[in-house]
Parts: sequence; C-alpha cells; structure tokens
Amino acid sequence: MDALRVERPEIIARATETIGEMVALIERLASEDIAYKVDDGSWYFRIAKFPDYGKLSGKDLEGIEDGARVDVDEYEKDAKRDFALWKAVKPGEHAWDTPLGTGRPGWHIECSAMAMKHLGPSFDLHGGGEDLAFPHHENEIAQSECASHVPFARHWFHVRFLLVEGKKMSKSEGNFYTLRDLLLKGYRASAIRFLLVSVPYRHQMNFTFEGLTESANAIERLRTFARRVEAAGGTLALPAALNADLDALVAEKLTAYGAALDNDLNTAEARAAVFDVVRAANIALDHGTFGRGNIARVQKLLQALDAVFDVLTDRDADVSKAAVAWAKAEGRTDIAPDLLVSQSISDQEIEALIAERTDARKRRNFARGDAIRNELAEKGVLIEDGKAGVTWKRR
Ligand SMILES: [Zn+2]
Repeated sequence: MDALRVERPEIIARATETIGEMVALIERLASEDIAYKVDDGSWYFRIAKFPDYGKLSGKDLEGIEDGARVDVDEYEKDAKRDFALWKAVKPGEHAWDTPLGTGRPGWHIECSAMAMKHLGPSFDLHGGGEDLAFPHHENEIAQSECASHVPFARHWFHVRFLLVEGKKMSKSEGNFYTLRDLLLKGYRASAIRFLLVSVPYRHQMNFTFEGLTESANAIERLRTFARRVEAAGGTLALPAALNADLDALVAEKLTAYGAALDNDLNTAEARAAVFDVVRAANIALDHGTFGRGNIARVQKLLQALDAVFDVLTDRDADVSKAAVAWAKAEGRTDIAPDLLVSQSISDQEIEALIAERTDARKRRNFARGDAIRNELAEKGVLIEDGKAGVTWKRR
C-alpha cells in the first residue's frame, strides 16, 4: 500500500474483536423473531421478515421457501434462503462461549457488526468486489436494517474484477503477478498506480504490459510538462502577456476535471481533461505563445491532478530499490537489468547532478560536466541545454 501510495485506513477492524457486538446484534434480531435457533444450536436469519431483501442486487425473490436454510460456508449463487448468523461449534473448530451458545459467527454478521461499531448504524459508503453484492451484501443489509430500523450504507462501491491480458487472473494461467513481480520486471510503482486508478471502478480493467508501459510514458509526459512549466517561470524568454485562449481552455478543463471525479469517480475523463491541457500548453510553449500569466492556472490543474492521482513527485527509485533489496535477500534472480540501471536514479538525484554539472561548467570544468552528462545518459536520462536552461527527460 505504501509503495502504491494508497492511504492506510484509520481503523483496521477485526472480527475476533467484535464478537460481543455480533452476539448483541443477533439477540436484538431474536427479540423480534427475525433470528431463530435450530436444533444443532445454530442461529439463522428469517429473510421472509425483510420484504426489501434483494433491493441491492435486484434479485428476483420469487420462490423463497420460508424456513429453507443455507449454510454460510456454501456460497450458492441463487441461495435465496435463510442464512446463518451463528454456527454451533463443530469438532476441531475454534469457538466462543456466548449467551447464544458455543460457536462462531456467520460471515455476514461479522461485517454488519464491525461496520456499525465503527461507523454507526448508517454510513455513506460500503465497498467490496462485484461478487459480493449477492448474497453477502444483501444479507448485511437485511440483518443490519432489521436491527437498526434505519438505512445501512447509503452508497455501494462494487469494484469489477481485473482481467490480465484479457483473461481472468490465475496461477494456472501464468498471468498472476504480485506488485513485487511487476517492480522486479522494471515497472515503476507510479506507473502501476496510475494504470490501476485510471480505469473507473465500474469498468472492467484489462491489465496489460503494454498498458503499463503507456502509463509510465504518460507519467513521464506529466512530469516533464510540470518541470517545463516550472522552468518557464524563471525564464525571461517568456512573453509577459496572458494567452487568453489557452487560459480559457485550462479553466474549462479544470472544471471538467472536477466534474468527472464528482461523477461517480470517472478517473478516465478526469485524466483526459489534464492531457488536453498538456497537449495545448506544450504547443504554446513550443511556439512561444505561452504567457507568464498562464503559469498559475496550469499549475493549479497539475496540483488538482496530483491531489488525487499522486504521481508527479518521483518516489519510484526508492520503491524499486526496496524491491531489489528484498529480491536479493530472497535469492531471486529475476530482476530486470533495466531496473538496476535506469530506475536506480530518482528525479531528485537527476536534478542534483544537473545542478552540479551547471556549476562545473560555470567553473569551466568541462570534463566533469561531460562526465555527468555521460553518467545520466547511461541511466537513460537525456539532457538538453536550451535558452530557458537545462531540461531533461527519461528515455
Ligand atoms: Zn463483508
């Protein structure tokens, strides 16, 4: 999560620390005859008592048999039946002694109890994979709303399954990659992050290595552009005037960027709005029609991008170095040669070397200046001396 710049949750709830709340929830349901105990000591939820059952997944609930039960461990697709809230102990299983009897909680009740303990009976957003809508989330809604008499989650965030190279990811298909596998192949953490977040969650994402390379190139474009705009502020060659057409476009795209994210997290459209500006502003910079007055709003858009996508600052080298250190300690030999060269240098280290080179050249130490240029070239970094100063990019 740290490598991919995913914020850690404030609370990581544990089912085993929420047993008391689960028992209390089942007791409340039992007091209204919604939970009932069967002969083996297990407790079940009577779904005939919850007419809204099926409202999340839109399942047709014709043919529910009152009292027909499904074991929580069986996960039938169309099990429109009473489900287990509490399972009586079986030989060899871990169990808790509770007023309900000795046993363990059913899977669904765990989520309801943990969610309501930390967030209250009603909260904004509940996530999960697309496979969980039925029956798991349907069951969570039923037992929670029957106990609390208020709506459970106001919005559901179901993420589609990932495809890899057009196929379901599986070990047997040989298309199963961990984050470390990808890092050791030489891909950058930022490229992986940008690719994963750029496909809106409601769309099925097809992960390909080509897409990952495109993602890395997109980030390089953004970073190169951000440096170019930054450098433009320090050059006298830039016209002082505002390019009003460009500024109007940036303002429009800034609005479009926010609107896309507000529209059910449409990250693809948000990203496209930013690249529209990169394209237009690069052309203006090439033609000398980018004004000093354009800098602020363009940077505002870049900041808005980075506040969500978080890819502009290079932290890739550290992550890759850590992956290499781990791989060496594990005795792994599948480390991409490229990784050891081009990604062993961070943007910040490049900037420091370029500053040293500029300084060396000022002192007429051209040998040192050339040595630095060669060192950077070996690491895949191209530098260019222009009238606006030194610019660089990765190959
Ligand atoms: Zn759950």
